Amino acid sequence: VPVAEGLFRVGDDDQAHLVGGRCGTCDRPHFPRGVVCPWCSSGEVSEVALSSEGTLWGWTGVNASPPGYSGETPFGFGVVELPEGIRVVTRLSEADPSRLAFGQRMCMEIVPLVDDDEGHTTMTWAFVPTPGAG
Ligand SMILES: [Zn+2]
Repeated sequence: VPVAEGLFRVGDDDQAHLVGGRCGTCDRPHFPRGVVCPWCSSGEVSEVALSSEGTLWGWTGVNASPPGYSGETPFGFGVVELPEGIRVVTRLSEADPSRLAFGQRMCMEIVPLVDDDEGHTTMTWAFVPTPGAG
């Protein structure tokens, strides 16, 4: 069960991608996908799979559960900049801020967020440090 419909999907290559929009008028991408382009207000927005890898731009560790959150703590939270120029506010798999560095390469994965009473697992996305990259 995705945490929200339409935010991410897994492609034919088994790689997870965030689903954004690309404007048919100004050609700029955005996330999450909107009905109209946030840059020029054109309605010609088509769905696009965004890059699954980006660079770390800002981050923190969350040790206390936010209101309404029943998943695991601690977890990381931050901003990853995609090659498209989009900064995505995202969960991070690394909860220890001292183990992360500005500009380090991060890749996206789908992770379980929380189980409900009927055994359904809500899935969300997180960025993890790209293996082998500095
Ligand atoms: Zn536009």
